[in-house]
Amino acid sequence: MRKILMVFGVITLFIGCNAPQKSEKASNEVSKTPETNPENFGIVIHGGAGTILRKNMTPEMEEAYKAKLEEAVRKGYEILAAGGSGLDAVEQSIQVMEESPLFNAGKGAVFTNEGKNELDASIMHGKTLNAGAVAGVTSVKSPIALARKVMENSEHVMFAGEGAETFAKEQGLEIVDPSYFYTENRWKSLERAKEREEVELDHDGQASLYDPFIKDSKFGTVGCVVLDKEGNLVAGTSTGGMTNKRWGRVGDAPIIGAGTYANNASCAVSSTGWGEFFIRGVIAHDIAAMMQYGGISLQEASQKVIQEKLPEMGGDGGIIAIDHNGNIAMEFNTAGMYRAAMNSKGELTLGIYKESE
Ligand code: ASP
Repeated sequence: MRKILMVFGVITLFIGCNAPQKSEKASNEVSKTPETNPENFGIVIHGGAGTILRKNMTPEMEEAYKAKLEEAVRKGYEILAAGGSGLDAVEQSIQVMEESPLFNAGKGAVFTNEGKNELDASIMHGKTLNAGAVAGVTSVKSPIALARKVMENSEHVMFAGEGAETFAKEQGLEIVDPSYFYTENRWKSLERAKEREEVELDHDGQASLYDPFIKDSKFGTVGCVVLDKEGNLVAGTSTGGMTNKRWGRVGDAPIIGAGTYANNASCAVSSTGWGEFFIRGVIAHDIAAMMQYGGISLQEASQKVIQEKLPEMGGDGGIIAIDHNGNIAMEFNTAGMYRAAMNSKGELTLGIYKESE
């Protein structure tokens, strides 16, 4: 009898351990949302950081960038002002930039060494700490929409390559021919990067992503962070990565904690820049952690990480961030960063170059 009971016990334990997982990630409130004023909301976006110099810009180009940034920030702002969710605001604001050839995300994404567009994106909700990310997708029109589907409709956080595309189809997202992402400008950038690489090859016999020429040829990633009227912080990032990137290279944009992070207890952050350094420096989470554990202000934490830690590591780029009081940061250590913000009063800030320039 004892033997039978033991066998029964072992079987029950075995079945228990192998019980099917819940098909969705838990979405309870895991991060305490501080008391906030519902009238206090805001949005910040970026369209990439890099060697963006006034002398290389025509007035027409500058106008085109400003107009698109304004359209994108207003899109998210209107959703927030009407009491909409932070997730909708982030997704739709980013989609305006994904659909524009001006930015390195969606249409207008940079090319890989093989001449393809491989897109990365992620999104995170600061109340549940739920997140979704995709890497290396080639036929999904809106990678940020796919990242959101991963967060909301799968038990996983990240899908890559073919699996991500299968999931996109299952979810009914718009699939496009890869040629949709093509732009002549980005193709020329790839050709230039390859030419420069050959010059570099002559010097040391091997080319690398860390080539200073190549690193300068990336900018235009897009991102959005918001505080909605319910006090939720949400962050999202979408990119084509770096021009001339190799063999399935994945940057920081889809890495939670590096390219994107949101926590209602601290802030929401979206990064842009030399992805390898943002991954190694866990840049977005670092800023949130300094605020949460060190009681440091958003501005101070952002400055420390972007102006001290990142350059000390040898990296460059920038972040946009917003905290639970609606304070914002737009910090970068490159020549410029396409950026825009709107606060609850509807005041608009737009910028491309350093203020001092
Ligand atoms: N961070 C992106 C990446 O490394 C590129 C960028 O932001 O310009 O993939």
